Amino acid sequence: MPTFSLTAINVGTFNLGEADKIITLFSREKGLHRAVAKGARKPGARISGKAELLNVNRLLLAKGKNLDIITQCENIETFANLRHDLTRLTYALYYAELTQIFGQGLAEESERYFDKLCLSMGLMAASGRDPALLCLEFEFSLLDMLGIKPELNFCVGCRAPLTESNLTAFNHELGGLVCHTCFHRMRRPAVSTDGVKEGAECYEAMDGQRTNVYVTPLVWKRMVLANIGSEQIDMEINPEQPKEPRALVGATVAARRVMQSYIEYKAGKRMRALDLLANLI
Ligand SMILES: [Zn+2]
Repeated sequence: MPTFSLTAINVGTFNLGEADKIITLFSREKGLHRAVAKGARKPGARISGKAELLNVNRLLLAKGKNLDIITQCENIETFANLRHDLTRLTYALYYAELTQIFGQGLAEESERYFDKLCLSMGLMAASGRDPALLCLEFEFSLLDMLGIKPELNFCVGCRAPLTESNLTAFNHELGGLVCHTCFHRMRRPAVSTDGVKEGAECYEAMDGQRTNVYVTPLVWKRMVLANIGSEQIDMEINPEQPKEPRALVGATVAARRVMQSYIEYKAGKRMRALDLLANLI
């Protein structure tokens, strides 16, 4: 039986028969891939721990008729710190869920995405930085690799440069921010603050499709910084300052809500890990 090797992270699992597991892997070499871990649910089986979600393994697989079979498995990384922090673990599971949903579109970028995913899991596990901010950065990187990164600098309706005084909302259909004029030209009914948590600074429009989400200048700034990456965010936040000001924390939460709604719009479904997250923060 021909064999091949992969370096991969487990992003999904489900049970097969009485003792086996099917694992959804995201590998450096092939992107999204499914394989069978035989005996993974038997007590004391050598592969059982390695078959858990979020583990990174070096694998040898045998080509199977329908699914390939894992024949050797060497663990490289477990992100052990994640298992002690439910909020951070939930964000990491959200990364895994995003990978399952969008991973097919990342086949050409598998090496780059695999490295980014492992780095982001490591940061979520070990960094003291706000997990919501880390998540926001990760979401922007993913959307960039998928070629659906939102436009934050120019209005997606008229291409006018966006400023604090003219930016109004994020439009899911057009994939970016719209100016005041375009927003009103679209004649979407707006605005309800019902159900929005205190401190959040964006409000969903009442069009039922969640096509527009209002964005304030502070939330916009948060999105722009997350889009640029971590070095700039680190520069922005004084390291001697133990906590971010409350307004910035609120802006991060609001910026994540905007990205979450855009991602769910693109996925065409609600992200399951986020249901748990909503109850934690
Ligand atoms: Zn416009």
